[in-house]
Amino acid sequence: MKVAVPKETYPGEQRVALIPANLPQLVRAGMEVMVESGAGVGAGFDDAQYEENGATITTDRTAIFAADVVVQVRTLGANQKAGRDDLPRMKAGGVVLGTCDPLGEPAAANDVAETGASLFSLEMIPRITRAQSMDVLSSMATIAGYRAVLLAAVELPKMYPMLMTAAGTLTAARVFVIGAGVAGLQAIATAKRLGAVVRAYDVRPACREQVESLGGRFVELKLETEQSEDKGGYAKAMDDAFYARQRELMAEVVAESDVVITTAAIPGKTSPLLITAEAVAGMTAGSVIVDMATERGGNCALSKADERIVEHGVVILGPTNLPAEIPNHASQMFSNNVTKFLLNLVKDGAVEMNLEDEIIRDTLVTHSGQVVHGRVRELLGLAPLAAPEAEKPASEAEKPAPEPEEPAAEAEGPAPETNETAELDPDPDTPVTTGESSTDVAKEGSE
Ligand code: NAD
Repeated sequence: MKVAVPKETYPGEQRVALIPANLPQLVRAGMEVMVESGAGVGAGFDDAQYEENGATITTDRTAIFAADVVVQVRTLGANQKAGRDDLPRMKAGGVVLGTCDPLGEPAAANDVAETGASLFSLEMIPRITRAQSMDVLSSMATIAGYRAVLLAAVELPKMYPMLMTAAGTLTAARVFVIGAGVAGLQAIATAKRLGAVVRAYDVRPACREQVESLGGRFVELKLETEQSEDKGGYAKAMDDAFYARQRELMAEVVAESDVVITTAAIPGKTSPLLITAEAVAGMTAGSVIVDMATERGGNCALSKADERIVEHGVVILGPTNLPAEIPNHASQMFSNNVTKFLLNLVKDGAVEMNLEDEIIRDTLVTHSGQVVHGRVRELLGLAPLAAPEAEKPASEAEKPAPEPEEPAAEAEGPAPETNETAELDPDPDTPVTTGESSTDVAKEGSE
């Protein structure tokens, strides 16, 4: 069974989906690895290192896409222009896996479906314990949070740490991190390591402890946040009045900060606007904002994707591909995640589409010529699939009529509201990344 690694073609993308160190594991599991010449160079891995670890190198991109499984950092959807060149190379019955933004770019998923290839979206990996080692979103958010703090440090006309020198005392920079998820927590940790005084805010009250454990101070805002978290641990979208009040209360903290890093996101939705133009005007000239949410609308009214804006003397950055700026470690993490995913997908040297496995089920976007992911179909205006037997988890497809001794609750009762619900949910269309509970999605699908 051949697994192939193409060179990434998204502008500025330096990462590679598999690094040489992971190849022996894949080879031991019965996979042959083929790498497009130069695929790892941007991340610091040359062809010779891949060869030493068991790969064959080719310059023929068409041969790469003829493999049984193609692994990419960004496949079509997450690489809208250049990724299109690979469409004619994708083959019916083949597997393509990578980030592909199926909720943001569902039409691209449809294009892949037409090739007959099976597309796995790494963004859709469910956030369950068993899948933690495959979670590319967390890996890349870790890198991005770190990088954002460094970008701000370079722009800031001050140093981060407090220094008492013969030439006087320099006060520490004040960093405010908005959104304390994976990226935000890494930003807090990084800014602390550099000596800044760090404050942070998140709508999820559970974040307080995590912020404090990193040495940050949790900012108290008089907002009603009890209902701000869904069952999956993600933030829920709040109403306009909530965000208006949040902006108002936060403006003071923003004004007092030298650096503001915003990471606030609602899965599958536009990011909330948290820093207005007026709030920017209230900051001291020379301050820096790094808006990590620009790809989904941005948390700052003045930020623009991949631009450096200066307003009222405040520098506003809107980077959209921070992990690509630390390509070696980003590739190492991505590759470890992909390797774990492959080892779960490939059994006895062949791809096993085991749809009883929610990791496989939730990430599968296209199969047998059609989009099979319920949420993506919905976005495309396609009717829900009539769940062909092959698409159903075997347990559901083959389950005989309930035995009389089977407890009724197990056969048809509502799913219990526990963390295990997501793991046991038999709905093949349940993307945990939507931020909706699996039960909600199941209900929607049946309407
Ligand atoms: P994310 O990227 O979706 O959002 C970033 C942060 O923004 C979140 O913490 C969110 O609460 C926050 N936010 C949203 N609206 C806000 C607002 N108006 N003001 C301030 N903050 C706001 O989130 P993420 O980093 O992907 O992680 C979200 C949760 O998932 C966290 O609890 C994290 O620990 C958890 N998680 C679990 C697993 C796992 O179990 N395998 C893996 C990764 C993350």
